[in-house]
Amino acid sequence: MFSTSLVWYSEMLGGDPSSCKGEMVVDKSTRITFFGGTRTIGGTICRVKTATAQLVFDMGHVVRPSSPIFSGSLRPRSVADLRAVGILPDIPELYMDQHHQDVAVCISHNHLDHTALLPYMANGISIFSTKETCQMLKVISEAALEEQPPLRLIGVETGTWQSVGDLSFQFVPVDHDTPGAAAILISAPDMRLVYTGDLRFHGWRPEVSRAFVEKARRFEPDVLLIEGTRAGDEPRPQVTEQELIRLVVDAMAGEDGIVYFNAYPRHPERVLSFVRAAHEVNRTAVLEARTLYVAAHFTGRLPEGVRIWADSDLPDPVARWLQGVGLPVIGPSEVAERPSAFAVELAYDRLWRLIDLDRAASGLYIHSNGAPLGPFDPAWDNLQRWLAHFGVAFRSLGTSGHAALGEIEQVVEAIRPRVYLPIHSFHPERVVASGIPRFLPEERVDYTLSDLLANASLTARD
Ligand SMILES: [Zn+2]
Ligand SMILES: [Zn+2]
Repeated sequence: MFSTSLVWYSEMLGGDPSSCKGEMVVDKSTRITFFGGTRTIGGTICRVKTATAQLVFDMGHVVRPSSPIFSGSLRPRSVADLRAVGILPDIPELYMDQHHQDVAVCISHNHLDHTALLPYMANGISIFSTKETCQMLKVISEAALEEQPPLRLIGVETGTWQSVGDLSFQFVPVDHDTPGAAAILISAPDMRLVYTGDLRFHGWRPEVSRAFVEKARRFEPDVLLIEGTRAGDEPRPQVTEQELIRLVVDAMAGEDGIVYFNAYPRHPERVLSFVRAAHEVNRTAVLEARTLYVAAHFTGRLPEGVRIWADSDLPDPVARWLQGVGLPVIGPSEVAERPSAFAVELAYDRLWRLIDLDRAASGLYIHSNGAPLGPFDPAWDNLQRWLAHFGVAFRSLGTSGHAALGEIEQVVEAIRPRVYLPIHSFHPERVVASGIPRFLPEERVDYTLSDLLANASLTARD
């Protein structure tokens, strides 16, 4: 249906289109194609393609409900296997050893649902991101967190134009629950496009997200791709990162046994919030060495009074760093002697620490957006079994990395693109901005700007 509405141009400058029957014609319209992430939370892969260049942004992976996956002992033999089942996008140039000057990949931020497929890109492909995102991916890899392999990325200054062929792009910082997150502005010969990446307005730096909205508005984009992660959520009060510290302090203060917490190491500020809360209730925070390794690289200083879990199996860079900073290490017997004196990190892959704490293990576990992320993960039920077995109460105290639905709609209305496409959502159809045409894209379909405008429609809230 969309191929019929494509506009074909004569290659002859100034020629009358009717006079060039039989001549070679070249379609010069820029095409937008999605290879993932239109109806899932994460896994966004979008390509903007002109006659001479391609820009692909984000390269993450999420499991799609109806798609085959490789898991456990069923492993892909090659990149071709991953392409065959649609996990890797069908963009041949990404896997080829030539044509690299015509194709680039941009990464909005370091979360796996935006980066997981990067290791499969051909060596010569330029992969761009912000300097902070590059740094985060480097330290995560050094700390052996989440099996993230080392990646070669080009870190660029935010707010500076870069180019691949006739496409220009720049990163604009946004606030999200990890450092370095950015939106991407893209300028093609016949359209301007804004991709929000993931963003929120209730974190430590809402002004950064607001400045992005203002910059995007002034850019006057034709197309806005906007995340709609929370479009399907029940409306509920939103907790700021600041308010969350108070809730954690109250929870810690009401507990006599050990307090455990599980934050996402890719969110160092949240980890440090737990250190601060522990300090306020006179508990000593105990962190995994790898968690503090990541946090220390982003704050430039070490929090005071922290202890490190004893661990004989640290990755080399972390072990060397720990030796250099000389932080005191602590083992389970010392924690077990005075359970009410500690607030300890308990990561899912370190649940065996409960075995070492033995009879002192009971207490309160505060889940704060760490892994497993939610009940959709099979590890979630197993976590509950471990905690129940050791008499540890479970409590969830966190806050989202994503803007609420109403905020997302306000962003669309403030930027006022000619058409907006909600993506990165289980319910993109619930994102309704008043007075602006919306289009819900299908995957693996090429859209020109004319296609999007012709098929977009004004929608109203029910
Ligand atoms: Zn995401
Ligand atoms: Zn994210």
